[in-house]
Amino acid sequence: MCGIVGAVAQRDVAGILIEGLRRLEYRGYDSAGVAVVDSDNALQRVRRLGKVQELADAVATNPLSGGTGIAHTRWATHGEPSETNAHPHVSGEHIAIVHNGIIENHESLRTVLTERGYTFVSQTDTEVIAHLVDWELRSADSLLQAVQKTVSQLEGAYGTVVMDSRDPNRIVVARSGSPLVIGYGVDEHFVASDQLALLPVTRRFAFLEEGDVAEVTRFEVNIFDKQGEPVEREIKESEVSHDAGDKGQYRHYMLKEIYEQPVALQRTMEGRLANGKVLASAFGDNAEALLQKVKHVQIIACGTSYHAGLVARYWLEQWAGVSCNVEIASEFRYRKSHVYENSLLVTLSQSGETADTLAALRLAKEMGYMASLTICNVPGSSLVRESDLAYMMKAGAEIGVASTKAFTVQLAGLLMLVAAIGRGKTIDDALEAKLVAALQSLPAKIEQTLAMADDIEALAEDFADKHHALFLGRGEQSPIAMEGALKLKEISYIHAEAYAAGELKHGPLALIDADMPVIVVAPNNELLEKLKSNVEEVRARGGLMYVFADVNAHFASDDTMTVLNVPHCDEFIAPILYTLPLQLLSYYVALIKGTDVDQPRNLAKSVTVE
Ligand code: GLU
Repeated sequence: MCGIVGAVAQRDVAGILIEGLRRLEYRGYDSAGVAVVDSDNALQRVRRLGKVQELADAVATNPLSGGTGIAHTRWATHGEPSETNAHPHVSGEHIAIVHNGIIENHESLRTVLTERGYTFVSQTDTEVIAHLVDWELRSADSLLQAVQKTVSQLEGAYGTVVMDSRDPNRIVVARSGSPLVIGYGVDEHFVASDQLALLPVTRRFAFLEEGDVAEVTRFEVNIFDKQGEPVEREIKESEVSHDAGDKGQYRHYMLKEIYEQPVALQRTMEGRLANGKVLASAFGDNAEALLQKVKHVQIIACGTSYHAGLVARYWLEQWAGVSCNVEIASEFRYRKSHVYENSLLVTLSQSGETADTLAALRLAKEMGYMASLTICNVPGSSLVRESDLAYMMKAGAEIGVASTKAFTVQLAGLLMLVAAIGRGKTIDDALEAKLVAALQSLPAKIEQTLAMADDIEALAEDFADKHHALFLGRGEQSPIAMEGALKLKEISYIHAEAYAAGELKHGPLALIDADMPVIVVAPNNELLEKLKSNVEEVRARGGLMYVFADVNAHFASDDTMTVLNVPHCDEFIAPILYTLPLQLLSYYVALIKGTDVDQPRNLAKSVTVE
């Protein structure tokens, strides 16, 4: 699920591999390792528990030389984080492999391999791949053939890279469920789980497809599909900027990404709005006619993206006149559900590789949806390739594990979708022009909202000794409250929950006391008076409140309530705008708590395992 980098070159590659791992660090991991084939055709391996820097220090003390190598950052699924469980894993003296994902049938394979005489030294599911390759090599003509035979026995998800020190100028890679990309250099080739890792050495990439196995040497890349047939995968020039993995002046990627939101929103709208209209081509060729036919929308997502979907449900039903369901992908894929007539399936995912969302899309394809659309940030990702329509977010690389700009950009994309579906139904020219004007006002409004940062930083002090928090919102702000609670949980480890404010009296009110801060998002909409009553319910029970309110909402600070004003905005974009103070709050609280903001414990970016 974390990082893979590999290289076949004439020059020493250990430095390139470790720099590649550094560029993937943002994904979150627990250990790292590298192996190269040296000039005596022997495997040299170094692994460390903890940060890539520890690995880099170890390699600096005992340099590794060799032009063929593989490296990995591990996010443990089977077996504790430890040096023994870190990748690369080996079989005998010659085979070394790295693996992302989960081998579901590892237990039965372990039994068979043990009977064949192999000794397992790690607790990982991965080690079976190394021994299987070794076993298959005994009867195979080549490493490629041995890997093809090996993967045919694997169940589960994998991106794997294999090398054999007896055949030092070759690596073999295989992809099923975990992304892999091949980087093309001059007389050298690279592989990685994400092109970001390879940007210092190449900009030319081919994305492997599901089931592909490729043999990579310095001079050649031969790719074979699921059936073992040779295939070409288009080589594309990457548009991702070289410094996408650079924090610049910011202390954390998360802060950088929060501040990138005005530009990211500008970019996502570029060329997609004209003359008061949303251009349906933003969703793909021929999207216009298709979206007009939509009568129901089924949204599938996980985590932060799921919250974006929940906001879209309010919007679609209120403005576009279509019904909408939103479901967490891991639930959707394992239950029976009903497909409505003319139903559009929408998947939301920053990475386009979220395993549960991808599995849900594949399942839904068999179920009779009219079409599938993905709103996604990574071109060429699995969701983009496998969906009928795609809205590319263009948010730029998001490195912080806790999603920020991807969420607000997803929401902007969803608002455009509302216009494209509702046009000719409940959205007339005037309403669409109003929606488009609201979207266009977003970058400036976001800039103004970011000016609240100093006040929010001061307010965060109040959370220094808190262990719980409650977030409240109503209507389309209730998913924003959920997103605020998730952000706080993810990066400050404070237990936080969100409620639609009307639900308070049905249970959570029992939790209110001076140790349970209550954060309220209160734009000036038709639910404001109802929300004010909910605020009074909290006040009457001695709760401490922090209210992010529209300037015209007439909330005033007092002993029990701190009010911070959010710039006034059109109701269409209020959920997007009110997300910002909550992102900033969680960031500054995490700083006070001293947590690892960009790589919170136990979490990983791009969740490519189930
Ligand atoms: N399942 C493997 C392990 O636990 C790979 C984990 C990963 O994707 O990093 O070692």
